[in-house]
Amino acid sequence: MTGNPADRAGAILEVDLAGIAANWRLLARRVEPVECAAVVKADAYGLGAALVAPALAAAGCRRFFVATMDEGIALRRVLPEAAEIAVFNGLLPGCADDFIEFGLVPVLNDPGQVADWRSAALRHRKGPAILHLDTGMARLGLTLREFDRLADASCRPDPIRWRALISHLACSDEPEHPLNRTQLERFIAARRCLSHVPASLAASSGIFLGPEFHFDLVRPGAALYGVNPQPGCPNPMRQIVRLKGRILQIREVDRGQSVGYGASHVMAAPGRLATVAVGYADGWLRSVSQHGSGRVGGKRVPLLGRVSMDLMVFDVSGVDPAFVRPGGFIELLHEEYGVDAAAADAGTIGYEILTALGRRYLRTYSGAPRQC
Ligand SMILES: *Cc1c(COP(=O)(O)O)cnc(C)c1O
Repeated sequence: MTGNPADRAGAILEVDLAGIAANWRLLARRVEPVECAAVVKADAYGLGAALVAPALAAAGCRRFFVATMDEGIALRRVLPEAAEIAVFNGLLPGCADDFIEFGLVPVLNDPGQVADWRSAALRHRKGPAILHLDTGMARLGLTLREFDRLADASCRPDPIRWRALISHLACSDEPEHPLNRTQLERFIAARRCLSHVPASLAASSGIFLGPEFHFDLVRPGAALYGVNPQPGCPNPMRQIVRLKGRILQIREVDRGQSVGYGASHVMAAPGRLATVAVGYADGWLRSVSQHGSGRVGGKRVPLLGRVSMDLMVFDVSGVDPAFVRPGGFIELLHEEYGVDAAAADAGTIGYEILTALGRRYLRTYSGAPRQC
């Protein structure tokens, strides 16, 4: 293969690893002396866990959370042995020995998983695990009743080495929501039964509900990657992704010309259009059709018509033609239009914008820690 991949890429995604580390440090300082973990599930929210997690480890992070065992196995290969990797989705039947072999910590979500892990811990003479208590989300974790039963039995010697007791908030991005306090009170009450075990309730937004939500360990994910943990307030986090889409073609069009599938946009005046090599197959959600935008030559340019699978069209009539030429770029994510802004235009949340980011993008990483 000859040539530079950057020359033929349809889009370039730049990930700022130093920015992610800075975001982690900002949260870690905010909760001090409480420990700050990092959630790197779904390939670090789509940004590449193999590079993101070591950058966080170099910044001082010691505890990592993933969703699945396979994510944990992949992460084990790139993190120092001392780093703890916990798997939110828990212990599937028949997987206990693999958890031990790969040095992963299961988050145990029901009494059956606790029983399975107990026998594995006896067999292997080790068994670190995290216990997940459901305080109001009805998703994963032991119910309060199941937890009470377990706590009664936990006076007996237990082969499981409990690394943490966790619960997860359903509404932490809405500070006034009454469920936050209800979950907090339930967690405090339950915690008394396992008072020697470090407790963790807050993810990104939970950190901003105040110190009483911090306990011993916080587990941010989205905020590390630039999502605003306090929607509606100024975002304290750095934007860490930039995305630019390649201009494939420029055309002049007449008034009355329709643009794209369904002819959903019709030009009200003559204009100049730029066709860009990013579409919904790249995770640029079709729901931004008609109201998305990009930036070129410092100017905002509206997206016209529908997003296609591999393409979309911008109105660049108002931009100096020197800035818009085939082979050039239109910026799709940048410091003034971050993942939350894109999410607002797509009718979704920043989390989905990040995890949808396409596999066809040429990815470049800056600010990687120096290897020692
Ligand atoms: C995803 C997740 C987190 C991280 O949440 P963010 O809102 O991305 O910070 C923390 N804890 C649990 C249980 C999760 O599932």
